[in-house]
Amino acid sequence: MHKQIITDRFLLSRKSTPATKDDLPSALDLRDTFNYINIQNINRESECVGLAANQIGVFKTILVLANEKKKAEIIINPVIIKHSQEMIDSTEGCMSLPGTQTVKRYPMIKVEYVDEHFKKRTKTFRNIQALVVQHEMDHFAGKLI
Ligand SMILES: [Zn+2]
Repeated sequence: MHKQIITDRFLLSRKSTPATKDDLPSALDLRDTFNYINIQNINRESECVGLAANQIGVFKTILVLANEKKKAEIIINPVIIKHSQEMIDSTEGCMSLPGTQTVKRYPMIKVEYVDEHFKKRTKTFRNIQALVVQHEMDHFAGKLI
């Protein structure tokens, strides 16, 4: 079921803890929320490319991002195990905040995580997907752009 997006900075500064299988319903809520936002957003003015569970008030390390086919992919307990040496400027928006900010990000990251079946996976994310994963992982740390 889709949830309301939290915009309160104090609440968003709260840190997340690792998710367990008991948190899978929250992962599905997060995916529903992502899909709901993009269905509402028919004019594509503020397309949602990723969401962190913090943003629906669930303080667990769960995120969704738009995959290559623009479908919502659930990433649980991600850990960056490798990244590019250089960082690039990334101008980003956030569904919880107005406007955009430019931050430094790695254009390539290799991540270990579990999927929505709690199966362990390793994946290399590049470009927009790499930036989105880092943005959402900042949310886990209570950090906003
Ligand atoms: Zn955000």
